[in-house]
Amino acid sequence: MKNNYKVNSKLALLFVIAFTYVGSSQNTNQEQIKKLYDVALTEGAGYNWLNYLSNQIGGRLSGSIQAQQAVNYTKSQLDSLGVDKVWLQPVMVPKWVRGTPEFAYYETSPGATTNVAICALGGSVPTPQQGIKANIIEVDGIEQLAILGKDKISGKIVFFNKPMDATQIDTFTAYSNCVDQRYAGAEEASKYGALGVIVRSLNLRLDDYPHTGSMGYGEQPESERIPAAAISTNGAELLSTSLKLNPNINFYFKQNCKQFSDVESFNVIAEIRGTQNPEEVIVVGGHLDSWDLGDGSHDDGAGCVQSMEVLNLFKKTGYKPKHTIRVVLFMNEENGLRGGNKYAEVANANNEKHIFALESDSGGFTPRGFTIDSSDKNFEKILTWKNLFEPYLIHSFEKGFSGADIGPLKQEGLVLAGLRPDSQRYFDHHHAENDTFEHVNRRELQLGAASMASLVYLVDKYGF
Ligand SMILES: [Zn+2]
Repeated sequence: MKNNYKVNSKLALLFVIAFTYVGSSQNTNQEQIKKLYDVALTEGAGYNWLNYLSNQIGGRLSGSIQAQQAVNYTKSQLDSLGVDKVWLQPVMVPKWVRGTPEFAYYETSPGATTNVAICALGGSVPTPQQGIKANIIEVDGIEQLAILGKDKISGKIVFFNKPMDATQIDTFTAYSNCVDQRYAGAEEASKYGALGVIVRSLNLRLDDYPHTGSMGYGEQPESERIPAAAISTNGAELLSTSLKLNPNINFYFKQNCKQFSDVESFNVIAEIRGTQNPEEVIVVGGHLDSWDLGDGSHDDGAGCVQSMEVLNLFKKTGYKPKHTIRVVLFMNEENGLRGGNKYAEVANANNEKHIFALESDSGGFTPRGFTIDSSDKNFEKILTWKNLFEPYLIHSFEKGFSGADIGPLKQEGLVLAGLRPDSQRYFDHHHAENDTFEHVNRRELQLGAASMASLVYLVDKYGF
């Protein structure tokens, strides 16, 4: 009896100690995370960095002067944070230039023309100097080409008008479901003798902005390549309605974009060395290049400055990470992914061990959570931290796609993640002239940065 009592009281004591330990570590985490959010909202530098990138530099298409200016600027800002190492990683990137503004109209009867807003798709060949004028035929996605066949398509311009699915709450799913007509529409249509393609902008809203984005020709010889342009959603609706009234409409478009030889550019990298496991690396990043039409504030200036902010917040809150925390601003996500591939190539060649990579490339809107690409076991571990995010209204932790630039790092054991902001307005701006600084809200942007820093803090503290 006495012995039993002793054992029981020992167990009780152990329980109290364990409970106190878990409780106090929970308190420490809550306090540290609160600090990260507080500092991000009051003293964060991300919004000011984005202001400079967007308004002093502007659109940063790979190979452009602006892309180089962005490399220089972000490197200088990272240098000023007093982190352990900042460097540039050389990478060869494609250089495509839009040239003079594109021009397009459709003609319902000789001389009766209506102008529509278009822009060349990134990577497209130009039209002949005098432009292309031909009958235009509407299709609802790539699959319809085979049904119509050469008979109906040859000698015409193909108008891909499959809209994004408005019923998808995750707008990225709606995007993925029709991005093939933009990327491969020209290559596929040319097999049926088409002269050019016009693609409905990947935008859920009806407006007058054409949205660019990458396209490719695969292995197609240059002589068979046909020009491709995006038309605004309003333009697409108008054209579609007019085609229903008169299927014999002529379409005219002219663009003089050009592909040059590859040029040298850089990934911008900075790190805080780990105090206990410096050889184990946690990466946080976004892509520094953008399309040329707007200033690339949401895509992906936001992700770059949020990633830089993670280092800044650790510095400002005096947090000394156990693992090496590295920010990578990847070059050329939009039209080549060369930066992401180069970073993984060098990391593998150097036998670097990465334990976690987090990307922000879904806009600077209010953060909702993270998507995680990992084993079930590691995903379960992340779920145990979910309650720590609840005060900040970060609720969504789901398995899924992380980010394009960190994708090439993927291997067994490595956990990849993506910041998931609210996506309802993202495609209003994506790759268009209105992806500009005034559409980014400071608090929303900074909350995203704090959410990223908090997740990195927890991974650093507990590992996988
Ligand atoms: Zn992006």
